Amino acid sequence: DPPAEKIEYQAEVSRLMDLIVNSLYSNKEVFLRELISNASDALDKLRFLSVTEPELLKDGVDLDIRIQTDKDNGIVILTDSGIGMNRQELIDCLGTIAQSGTAKFLKALKESKGSGSDSNLIGQFGVGFYSSFLVADRVVVSTKSPKSDKQYVWEGEANSSSYTIREETDPQKLIPRGTRLTLYLKRDDKGFAHPERIEKLVKNYSQFVSFPIYTWQEKGYTKEVEVEEDPADAKKDEEDDKTEKKKKTKKVVEKYWDWELTNETQPIWLRNPKDVTTEEYNEFYKKTFNEYLEPLASSHFTTEGEVEFRSILYVPSIAPMGKDDIANPKTKNIRLYVKRVFISDDFDGELFPRYLSFIRGVVDSNDLPLNVSREILQESRIVRIMRKRLVRKAFDMILGISMSENRDDYEKFWENFGKHLKLGCIEDRENHKRLAPLLRFFSSQSEDYMISLDEYVENMKPDQKDIYYIASDSVTSAKNTPFLERLLEKDLEALFLVDPIDEVAVQNLKSYKEKNFVDISKEDLDLGDKNEEKEKEMKQEFGQTCDWIKNRLGDKVASVQISNRLSTSPCVLVSGRFGWSANMERLMKAQSV
Ligand code: ADP
Ligand code: MG
Repeated sequence: DPPAEKIEYQAEVSRLMDLIVNSLYSNKEVFLRELISNASDALDKLRFLSVTEPELLKDGVDLDIRIQTDKDNGIVILTDSGIGMNRQELIDCLGTIAQSGTAKFLKALKESKGSGSDSNLIGQFGVGFYSSFLVADRVVVSTKSPKSDKQYVWEGEANSSSYTIREETDPQKLIPRGTRLTLYLKRDDKGFAHPERIEKLVKNYSQFVSFPIYTWQEKGYTKEVEVEEDPADAKKDEEDDKTEKKKKTKKVVEKYWDWELTNETQPIWLRNPKDVTTEEYNEFYKKTFNEYLEPLASSHFTTEGEVEFRSILYVPSIAPMGKDDIANPKTKNIRLYVKRVFISDDFDGELFPRYLSFIRGVVDSNDLPLNVSREILQESRIVRIMRKRLVRKAFDMILGISMSENRDDYEKFWENFGKHLKLGCIEDRENHKRLAPLLRFFSSQSEDYMISLDEYVENMKPDQKDIYYIASDSVTSAKNTPFLERLLEKDLEALFLVDPIDEVAVQNLKSYKEKNFVDISKEDLDLGDKNEEKEKEMKQEFGQTCDWIKNRLGDKVASVQISNRLSTSPCVLVSGRFGWSANMERLMKAQSV
């Protein structure tokens, strides 16, 4: 036998394992969820590749997951017939943290430092493969990629900073493809090797895995066996039943072991929405996206006719952790299936505009080819139609939140995703009608909570034609601007645009319900109360003063004019009708440094 090679873990992995073994004990049973989810991912990957490389399935083995237990020795064996790993992948995947769940976990741990909530985190995020060390002190992974003719064995122990890799040489242990994980349970955790316990956990955690999961169970059936009669009994029998003389039988239970299908494999999106509860949708969301918070809203629908697809969409309750990069989202938020085969979670950009990249969900199409690629998606008429419908459904879902009796829900939504919708106003003219009612702003008449444009319009004066706004860097400075004076005097409301992107968004919208957005800091603001006589008089009286001031200031100002918009302040600096507002100028300046 070639000797096993000993390899050190990447530093983070050691730290993570140490944490797992020594402090994160609250919810150990999640190890099974993590391992099943890896098995399911591996099966998904193989099924996807086999669409273009059918020879990968040539061994004829079904795509499934099998869990066998040995309760006397405290061993759990989990086998999948998925994509497996070659030698390099074993090193890269099980000796390094580069993967989603685990990396996210360590990050969250760092951020939560000191809050004492470490033990909670494991249930929330999972720590992927390494969670096997929650219950096992030794783990053996024997794996074979269908593209390789060699099978490799990875072996690691709970309190070690290194692992070993060797080639499998025992012919009895060879598998056609996939991965077999053997967990040697810790003394106190041997209970996980009870078949009933595993069955219960699988039912609990793997409701939404779309591959069959079999568990090795003891079964029994009763059969009747003939029994030798002893003479005493026979005599007694004769007394009991004198007319009929038949042979004696008795029932015995015959025990045997066999695989039992333990999960339900029909995907939730294929079910009738009427039969699915909110709890089930939320569970599906949490399991699919590795989330611990419930979504804010969900929408399950089927479209028929021209293009047929099914989908469940979700609005998350918080923006993704870390830097929220709307401009360049890399989200893996939409899982695309074709005829129930998982294709990719990399096509978000083809199915949603980037400003809606926060929407999560699954989309299952019957009309796309199984070997669909990004290029095909980008060209496809079917995808264009799907995209349109998906976007519409997303808007309906958001509108639903905004109409919820619980005002908090939408406030939460707005806090997390308001920026995205404003970006939508800039990037998606076609949907202005759907976007505008969802916007929220502070205003001169409501400084503590934000109002909608509908609320603004409802509160307009009978003869008011426009929607007034002032852009500023905060509610406080907006409130104190002299531009407001006349409006306040006439009890007119003005929106306070205090987020840098607000002003551009509003300028892109141009109008709402046929009312134009008007910047009250621009020159010739018309509040509908022009008095031409009086203006003429004023011009005559103060014209020379204006000229004099303009002379003194020279190029510093474009012009000096008599204003009708002030009531207490003597003068105000305004921007030209076609120029940038002061706020925009400030923003541009900030960007150019
Ligand atoms: P994540 O699943 O978030 O990527 P894990 O720690 O659970 O992180 O797994 C790390 C990587 O190990 C996976 O991304 C995958 O490449 C590989 N892996 C784990 N389990 C299996 C398996 N059963 N079959 C094939 N590859 C696997
Ligand atoms: Mg995983």
